[in-house]
Amino acid sequence: MKLKIIFPDLGHFPLVYRRTLPVLAPAVLAALTPPDIEISFTDERLGPVTVEEDCDLVAISVMTPQAGRAYELSRLYRKRGIPVVLGGVHISLLPQEAEGRADAIVIGEAEESWPRLLEDFQRGSLQKVYRCLTPPAEIPFPRWDLFDRDPYLPVLPVQVARGCPVNCDLCSVPQTFGREFRPLNLDQFWPRLAQLNRYLFLVNDNLHLAKRRSGPLLETLSGIGREWVGLASLSMARDASYLKLLQKSHCWAMYLELSPWVSAGLNEVIDGVEVRRAGEYLQRVRDQGIKVIASFVFGFDHDQKDIFERTVAFALEHRIEEAEFHILTPYPNSRLYQRIESEGRLLSRDFSEYTAGSVVFQPRNMTPEALYQGYLQAWRDFYRGSEIRETAEGPVVLTYNCFPISLDEIRRVKGIDWLDTVIAARYSGG
Ligand code: SF4
Repeated sequence: MKLKIIFPDLGHFPLVYRRTLPVLAPAVLAALTPPDIEISFTDERLGPVTVEEDCDLVAISVMTPQAGRAYELSRLYRKRGIPVVLGGVHISLLPQEAEGRADAIVIGEAEESWPRLLEDFQRGSLQKVYRCLTPPAEIPFPRWDLFDRDPYLPVLPVQVARGCPVNCDLCSVPQTFGREFRPLNLDQFWPRLAQLNRYLFLVNDNLHLAKRRSGPLLETLSGIGREWVGLASLSMARDASYLKLLQKSHCWAMYLELSPWVSAGLNEVIDGVEVRRAGEYLQRVRDQGIKVIASFVFGFDHDQKDIFERTVAFALEHRIEEAEFHILTPYPNSRLYQRIESEGRLLSRDFSEYTAGSVVFQPRNMTPEALYQGYLQAWRDFYRGSEIRETAEGPVVLTYNCFPISLDEIRRVKGIDWLDTVIAARYSGG
């Protein structure tokens, strides 16, 4: 039997050349597939899908900006008589949208349902819907070899837990993975991971919320000796011993969401930290040799027209070396989506625009165009020392910054001209 796994194109993401990172879902799906099934994988970020290619079953992993393309691919394969299965975060959030557009859909985590689905398929009794009956305590070692090719950055995403009790306004993790923080048992995982010469990208953004439970994980990472990048809130810097543990575990950089620190007044307190002390807390992180990669989101209801200038000024004042800017995006089924929809402010239900680089709702204090232009200008202003190429898709900052990996490592693994090659391939003639 031949299985085709597809990761559809992610669509236009203005201003950042494509940092092609390996992605977790196809690698996990391949690992869950019995070895007697032949797998071919197409990552549409790198090249077109050949719908004519022979296969018995197609599996498409779908995040929200990929939904339209995934449904189109499904239509094309099914027209050829090849059954299609859709799964992933978007399908789990909006199963009713996907039903009828595929032969089967997978809702929720696939560790237990995917092998069941394959057995049914091989018996000729494929069901329409597969749900996660028992959330898994462990996951198989992902088939990273699917991504063993040149265009990918040598960074492996690793998920160490699922679920979150916090239920933030704009997040869909609790809806997708449940409201309990469930660390995954990765005991079998780490020795193999240690053998791979790769940076690690810990994709969980709530580790610091479960600091007591993440101690053993950080000890393990210390032993593995691989540099890693994570996501956190600046409030983690309140705890000096936790910062020490991060440093010992070879944490190389942290993505910190800093928008709240720009919007708040100097006398306010965020997560127990006085806003006026933001600079001191950022320095505490740097003092451990951990690089700060700042993430800023525009479009909150409290954002006024000067938010773009204030954000760039904050980043420069605090000597942020790397920053990413995003437009607030109400992902389906999040509390933010429900609120914006109930207020009649949703401007687009075309999910291909839900890239965090387009405006899909009516902002409170400015026009959609002002939000979009302000966002573009923030990129230009922050990276004004870098070459910026204006392309048909919008400006592209030509910089090694914003990679979740050091420039030295890119030079070592890819060679110094590698970024130029990537940019030339994608934006030639720009
Ligand atoms: S944004 Fe992070 S902390 Fe908030 S609900 Fe999502 S995973 Fe939890």
